[in-house]
Amino acid sequence: MSHRARDLIDRGLDRHIRLAITGLSGAGKTALLSGLLEQMLYANDSSALPYWRVAKQQRLIGARLVPSSDWSIARFDYEGAVNALTGENSSWPQSTRDVSEIRIELKFKPVKGLASKLSDSRKVTVDLIDYPGEWLLDLPMLAQNYQQWSEQQSRLSEQGARAEVFAGWHNRVRESMQLEGDADETIRRLARDYQQQLQRCKKEFGLYFLQPGRHLLPGELADAPALDFFPWPTDLDLPESWGELLQQKYHYYQQQVIKPFYKSYFQDFNRQVILVDVLTALEAGEDALSELKLALTELMKSFEYGNNHFLKRLLSPQIDRVALVASKVDHIGPDQHAALRQLLAQLLQNSRQQLDFERIEYKTFSVAGISVSQAGQLSDGTVVLDGFDHDRQRVRVGAPKVPATWPNKKDWQIGFAYPRFYPHFSSVQSPLPHIRLDQLLDYLLGDKLE
Ligand code: GDP
Repeated sequence: MSHRARDLIDRGLDRHIRLAITGLSGAGKTALLSGLLEQMLYANDSSALPYWRVAKQQRLIGARLVPSSDWSIARFDYEGAVNALTGENSSWPQSTRDVSEIRIELKFKPVKGLASKLSDSRKVTVDLIDYPGEWLLDLPMLAQNYQQWSEQQSRLSEQGARAEVFAGWHNRVRESMQLEGDADETIRRLARDYQQQLQRCKKEFGLYFLQPGRHLLPGELADAPALDFFPWPTDLDLPESWGELLQQKYHYYQQQVIKPFYKSYFQDFNRQVILVDVLTALEAGEDALSELKLALTELMKSFEYGNNHFLKRLLSPQIDRVALVASKVDHIGPDQHAALRQLLAQLLQNSRQQLDFERIEYKTFSVAGISVSQAGQLSDGTVVLDGFDHDRQRVRVGAPKVPATWPNKKDWQIGFAYPRFYPHFSSVQSPLPHIRLDQLLDYLLGDKLE
């Protein structure tokens, strides 16, 4: 029997789960996935998983990494991540740039039903898939032709920080039109230039709603001609030969990049984590938080199967449970975790209604995939965080506050600042510390481990 056929049978029997993790770049996907694997692999050596019932009830017999049956997808580099975190010059691991996957097998004692009477143990195979959330932001492009997309992006590029970033690029497009050059070559140059400006929007201004997603995280398409396109500035006349090329590239991107992603990967996911770094957006200011909200609303459209004409035609969706997760809670005190979760819930308010409509279960969490600080309380009640700074020197800071709802004008004027802590683990100490991954694991896998 082929690997794929066996996987399908196992999925029918609830013995195989495809659990995907996404979020915009920097959200903490690599750290979260590494943390989840750590906790599963070392669950039996850990007392730090009180809310993962299968571990708490001592029914987890073992967990081990096994080869995935899909040989075309890069394996998630768990060992590399742990080495980076625990090595001599410990550092954060390399962030997600492409889709990757890793398979773990969990052996457990069933508690319920026929299974518990027939055998002492059962196995569940879990595929964990890590992919850039930026790719989900491309979905609306399927519903737009090149002209419509150009109009929307041109309008957007005149607003706020974007106007500053794109002014120079716009001039360069205009100048290029006056030169007699090879159209293909000129378009490639302008597309690369556009890609750099999009990356500046992200890095310098903390913007999130940026298309096309592969310009930010190209994955295997780095430098490929498929990315040689950009939205045409609608105040300039589009030369005919350029128009043809740009439309062809745009069409190719829709058909050969966006659609296959949904068909080959997304289609098969059963459970989904959406990870959001709310703290960094708060620090960057009101525009950044507004843009994060917009980007999340767009990203969540990939879960609106019923309403979304393109998805409905493309997929027969399987996702039945979504965890909406605020990351990096070790940057704030435990008394602020609930506020962070509430703020995340508010950012996702519209999308949550849609999940209800689709009958997809969801729950919000605030977690740290890898916790690098320790919270404490001084005798006067002040909450403090101990950790290591960039130079790996011990530091203690007062734990900052998080607004539970959208901040008011005065709060924005004062601004928000959160400490940055760095990993400094004296020796290999698996499982690495985390915050609330046991609750997350129980939500995502608990029902399959009964
Ligand atoms: P990705 O782009 O979504 O894969 O994000 P990463 O997992 O690479 O995380 C980006 C950065 O956020 C890391 O390099 C860390 O600086 C920080 N980070 C991620 N997760 C955590 C966490 O759990 N705690 C803390 N303190 N920082 C984190």
